[in-house]
Amino acid sequence: MSTFKQAPHNLLVIPGPIEVSDEVLYANALPPLAHAGAEFIPLMGDAIRMTREVVFTQTGQPFLIAGSGTLGWDQVAANLIEPGEDALLLNCGYFGDSFADCLRSYGANVHELRADFGKAVSQHELEAALKAKKYKLVCFTHVDTSTAVLSDAKMIGEVAKRLAPESLVILDGVCSVASEEIRMDAWNIDVVVSASQKGLGAPPGISVVVASQKALKVAETRKAPVAGYYSSWKRWLPIMHAYEAGKPSYFATPPTNLIVSYRQALLEITKDPKLTLEDRFKAHIHAADRIRNTAKELGLKLVPADAHNTANGMTAIYVPEGLAPSDIVSRMAKKGIVVTGGIHKENKDKYFRIGHMGVTAVNPERGDLDRVIAGLKESLAEAKASKQASQAKVENHKLPAWRSPSAPLGGSRSIAVAAKL
Ligand SMILES: *Cc1c(COP(=O)(O)O)cnc(C)c1O
Repeated sequence: MSTFKQAPHNLLVIPGPIEVSDEVLYANALPPLAHAGAEFIPLMGDAIRMTREVVFTQTGQPFLIAGSGTLGWDQVAANLIEPGEDALLLNCGYFGDSFADCLRSYGANVHELRADFGKAVSQHELEAALKAKKYKLVCFTHVDTSTAVLSDAKMIGEVAKRLAPESLVILDGVCSVASEEIRMDAWNIDVVVSASQKGLGAPPGISVVVASQKALKVAETRKAPVAGYYSSWKRWLPIMHAYEAGKPSYFATPPTNLIVSYRQALLEITKDPKLTLEDRFKAHIHAADRIRNTAKELGLKLVPADAHNTANGMTAIYVPEGLAPSDIVSRMAKKGIVVTGGIHKENKDKYFRIGHMGVTAVNPERGDLDRVIAGLKESLAEAKASKQASQAKVENHKLPAWRSPSAPLGGSRSIAVAAKL
């Protein structure tokens, strides 16, 4: 434990990057470490081993590579699918669209099952698709960060095992790893794609991917060459093995400082005697319940339509009729609380999003959630009051022409101006 304390800053409660602990930030502040040096190698080995623990796999192979979550899609597309092969993609929003784009840009033939806004793809639809055709990959976004819809990873893995045992099941967990339960081995998940800056609670900059032995075999025995150099598992696998074995090796420089920081985040996630991983998932459910109950109390509706398919690391909330997401987001920003608007292509102007992952969810003594809840209540009240005041202004301008200093036309012109605000 260091005595380092972060400078005062706005509370970062978007769905990633998130608030990180002082220890995680301090770990990043070492003088740069040599990537093949004796000091760094065991730290990287620890990070690889603890990554396995977070997703409950014994034999899965972690790849920790400089990059963001997006690089994980590239790794899947470059290593696991060959041009013209079929991938099934369960699409619940913006990140499903992007994952599909990525797969297509490597020549995959992507068939999408698109859920309605706020919904997940149903078991029935998945079963029908897998009965109708064979797919090399079955891909889904565990939590689509654009909608806060949580897909049932266990169900998807089970259905795939039963109806498509040869397919690889690919879980985009950029937003869900460490905030939602993911049991890679038990649930038949072949690849988990994540990143350092969301539920994992470190600064951005590391692409975190875990691949099953089955997935590695598929990559190894592919016919078409891997359409990528930096993203090729063949190049990275010996490097990851070497780090775990405590030996120096080199393909491309890992972000050494960030890895130390990420390792610290993993220590907090997997080695806290007072908070097991199961406790951590429960703490996220509890945090989400607090935000969801606040929304309910304020008469606000959630974007996810079903409780069973609602994320616990973030919440997406509709703004009330007549208000825009910016009415809330900008008022919360003035109070030093950073939340964000929607990003779903068709519906982005109807809702806003709050992240509650990592220390914000599991360390109640920080008071993050109390601040978010109070800030949300105040911001909504202010936004409503301001709306009413501007409506009252409009009404005033509608007063009979004899009370207006200008000609009757002036009245309707002011209405148009006021209505735009
Ligand atoms: C954030 C996110 C990504 C993209 O990650 P980057 O780190 O921004 O590249 C992909 N999928 C999901 C579900 C995400 O939330």
